[in-house]
Amino acid sequence: MEREQLEVDVLFVGAGPASLGGALHLSRLVGKHNEAVKSGQHSGQGLGDLTLLVIEKSRGIGSHALSGAVVDPRAFDELLEGFDGETPPYDSPVEDDALYILSKNKSFRSAITPPPLRNHGYYVASLGRLVKWMAELSEKNGIDVYPEFPAVELLFEGDSVIGVRIGDKGVDKDGNPKLNFEPGIDVLAKVTVLGEGPRGTLTLQAERRLNLNEGRHPQIYSIGVKEIWQVPRDIQPGLVYHTLGFPLGTQEFGGGFIYTMNNNLIDLGYVVGLDSENPCLDAHHLFQEFKTHPFIREILEGGKVLSYGAKIIPEGGYYSMPRFYANGLLIVGDSAGFLNAQRLKGIHLAIKSGMLAAETIFEALLKGDYSAATLKSYQDRFEKSWAKGELWRVRNFRQAFQRGFWSGMFHTGLQFLTNGRGLKDPLSTMPGHARMKKLKDYFGKPDAECETMPFDGRLTFDKLTDVYFSNTAHEEDQPCHLKILDFDICHNRCTREYGNPCQHFCPAHVYEMVEQDNKARLQVNFSNCVHCKTCDVMDPYQIIVWTPPEGGGGPDYKNM
Ligand code: SF4
Repeated sequence: MEREQLEVDVLFVGAGPASLGGALHLSRLVGKHNEAVKSGQHSGQGLGDLTLLVIEKSRGIGSHALSGAVVDPRAFDELLEGFDGETPPYDSPVEDDALYILSKNKSFRSAITPPPLRNHGYYVASLGRLVKWMAELSEKNGIDVYPEFPAVELLFEGDSVIGVRIGDKGVDKDGNPKLNFEPGIDVLAKVTVLGEGPRGTLTLQAERRLNLNEGRHPQIYSIGVKEIWQVPRDIQPGLVYHTLGFPLGTQEFGGGFIYTMNNNLIDLGYVVGLDSENPCLDAHHLFQEFKTHPFIREILEGGKVLSYGAKIIPEGGYYSMPRFYANGLLIVGDSAGFLNAQRLKGIHLAIKSGMLAAETIFEALLKGDYSAATLKSYQDRFEKSWAKGELWRVRNFRQAFQRGFWSGMFHTGLQFLTNGRGLKDPLSTMPGHARMKKLKDYFGKPDAECETMPFDGRLTFDKLTDVYFSNTAHEEDQPCHLKILDFDICHNRCTREYGNPCQHFCPAHVYEMVEQDNKARLQVNFSNCVHCKTCDVMDPYQIIVWTPPEGGGGPDYKNM
């Protein structure tokens, strides 16, 4: 098939804080250099008018970034030094923070807020709004930003990345071209920067083909499930509360969060480790249960849900980061594991990684050399940066919680006193799916059934209702973007051994066992998918592969 080609200088895949931060920083470095050459301050050659392109699979920029987050402004402050008068559209400064411990019916506020959860000097912000604003600033600075451009394949010449292929449009569910068929174009670039978010499709392709995970620990993920509520009374914006306890026991890693924003908005959610032994683990149900606690119920009294979403969080930290450079390639943000799980923060690290990548690309452009030998200085820059310092101090944090809650707390204390070292450094790690136990091993009987809970439609919602709140939509007549590599395993082995846990761990009711010819068959309701990627991480046989659907598909979170 003939495909159009588009040549750019630098391509950023995914319009999140890492890519947009990188593109903005690069545009400024290039602009400053060109001015210095023009004015004679610099004797070298100008770089001319470079084409910097950011592509994004979602319908609009920010559509896949769900509202509330607490932002450490450090990286934004550095990024915006070169952009006079520009300030991020934060929602409100943090006014109070606290840790609450929840038992089944009671709550108490911890006398001290643990240092990693102290947020004074930070801001509550809508991530969707921040990303949209960064994209607008990028366009003002000559960067092209294209939504509905899903990159489906990395293009290689030998071991060098030369660009990406965009997915075809107008293909029917059987793979045949429809009347509106448009073949995806190939975007060719001197350097391709992957900032696709956690478990990026192209990042996985690069990791496998170029062996970027060699010598690294497996990544550990959690899932964050959240809703944005609006309540009918005045609440102070800028309250940041984290919770431990109910409804989780001491076997799983996780906890809740409540952030308040202007217009009486409450951003609340629940984070659960995707390395649980429980084959019935259902983060959506745990979150619904969380809201029934008297402490949370009171906060939400009389309110209504405005939005719902879910996303995996890469928590493995320093030892789980892949090699994030190769010939023609850099990996930034969540795709490379730039996230501090102890502080539950990644936006500042994502932006910083984008900036370090930009400085490296600038150097490569001056040299005209885009090989791994030159791009390796991204790694060197990271090792000398505050981002490394921050991640180094928590390098064994999440690993300790694979040994249970109390062990995790004990190790965290020791790590705090030893600059992250703890009792053993590094602590070993298992991939999450490998920790899941079979029904008979977890419950002591092979035919154990997972518990469900009733939903009242006011405080608690079933998955389909929540999918409605996420504004998720996909073209129905297209190939299913969730590739099941072996249905036979689903229908036989998995049913027997794990009870088809995809029905539980998916927070959007995509996987459903239905009766067909007196047999239970897996039905994949792909149009519900909120792109959280939990199935790709958690499936015990690793036979579910998440791929990008046709451009524009997925959630359309409201940017409040
Ligand atoms: Fe998340 Fe997979 Fe369910 Fe989509 S199908 S919502 S990626 S778990």
